[in-house]
Amino acid sequence: MKRFPLHINIIFGLILGIIWALLSSYFGWSEFTIKWIDPFGLIFIRLMKLIAVPLVLFSIIQGVSGLSNISKLGRIGAKTLALYLITTMTAITVGLLIANIVKPGALIDQEQRKVNRKSYESWVAQKDGVEILDGRNLTEAGAPTRTNEEKEEFIKEKMESVEKRKEQGPLQFLVDMVPENIFFSLGDNSLMLQVIFFGIFFGLCLLMIPSEQSQTIISVVSALSEVFLKMVDIVMQAAPFFVFALLAGQVSKMAGDSPSQVVEIFKGLGWYSLCVVLGLGILLFLIYPGVVSTVIKKLSYKNFFRAMSPAQLLAFSSSSSAATLPVTIECVNDNLGVSKEITSFVLPIGATVNMDGTSLYQSVAVLFLAQLHMVDLTLGQQLLIVLTATLASIGSAAVPSAGLIMLIIVLESVGLNPAWIAIIFPVDRILDMCRTVINVTGDATVASIVASTENEINYSGQNHE
Ligand code: ASP
Repeated sequence: MKRFPLHINIIFGLILGIIWALLSSYFGWSEFTIKWIDPFGLIFIRLMKLIAVPLVLFSIIQGVSGLSNISKLGRIGAKTLALYLITTMTAITVGLLIANIVKPGALIDQEQRKVNRKSYESWVAQKDGVEILDGRNLTEAGAPTRTNEEKEEFIKEKMESVEKRKEQGPLQFLVDMVPENIFFSLGDNSLMLQVIFFGIFFGLCLLMIPSEQSQTIISVVSALSEVFLKMVDIVMQAAPFFVFALLAGQVSKMAGDSPSQVVEIFKGLGWYSLCVVLGLGILLFLIYPGVVSTVIKKLSYKNFFRAMSPAQLLAFSSSSSAATLPVTIECVNDNLGVSKEITSFVLPIGATVNMDGTSLYQSVAVLFLAQLHMVDLTLGQQLLIVLTATLASIGSAAVPSAGLIMLIIVLESVGLNPAWIAIIFPVDRILDMCRTVINVTGDATVASIVASTENEINYSGQNHE
């Protein structure tokens, strides 16, 4: 029997998962799917997360200690951060352009907009008592897995944690990067930047001690990183099944026992979702392949996607760039031919700080919500959005829904009601799946550019899969 390549099998798994979820919702089996199929998807995500932190640690130590000189690290670091900033700002600009041209928030019933405007004005008047869910009539159709009370609770909780974060000083992010106890950081997946910091520090110190002493540790670390890469290989063999389970579970949770609910959710928020998807599509299908095929001459458009598809499909199914990281490293390493030295450094940092899809989505969301409430944002305010969305995407954790939470900060920066995130909440999971694909592809693009400027790329054109 003909064996299909892995990425094709993952696509099968993905489509089957969606079909299964819709059928089970139609026949009323959603509970069965959530109880008996969804857990396998969760197991998959756990396995990936299990691998991600040690893999990042060992590959960074390996990468840094293998550097021929320390100034090279500084150079690669500076290029990486500059490119991450440029790609994020490009993404936000694309989002703002689309939202300004299409004006998705102005396409709904005008009477409704006037009502929204009034509620906005009264919110501004009594800013302290934040009015949760004043866009309720819009979201009412779609509260698939949460009741309104649960949604309110969720949003309130998140807003409180953002408030707390804001009380800290402007340099808090630097403080947060330095671990107090590395074992504690290793035990918490959200502290990836601390692990990266420790890895770089450890690797640099290895470079500074006599090689008779460092050699043993370097060999152990390199063997350990190979072991974790092997684990990725093994888990990925079962990825088509896991992706089926993930999608079946997710879509069943969204649709409940009535498939028409998914359609309902999209109706009110259709134009907004389309604008986000259009912007993401421009990055994914035009900008990234264009840039990568300029730096890797022999790479065709089709092969770019063949090379990246396992990571992209996994990002779509898991909505988490952190969980996808081990596979992203493999794809960029093996399929695009970027050296380990670059991937081990650029990709883990990218997974945590570079989120092009998230920042694009945030810019569209803010404009959409402003338009929906008949609030005009000036050019100055839109420039402020570029700045805050950049910072917010850097601050977003690489996990599902993180971008939605950080949207609170962007809304507040231009004086809008942060509770409006409730309005776009119903479609957020689906858009999260799409933007995570872009986040991961953006990281891979930057890794290829950095690698090509450092002559660290060796693409043979045959190493797909
Ligand atoms: N889920 C996204 C990621 O992991 C973050 C977000 O936009 O919510 O990259």
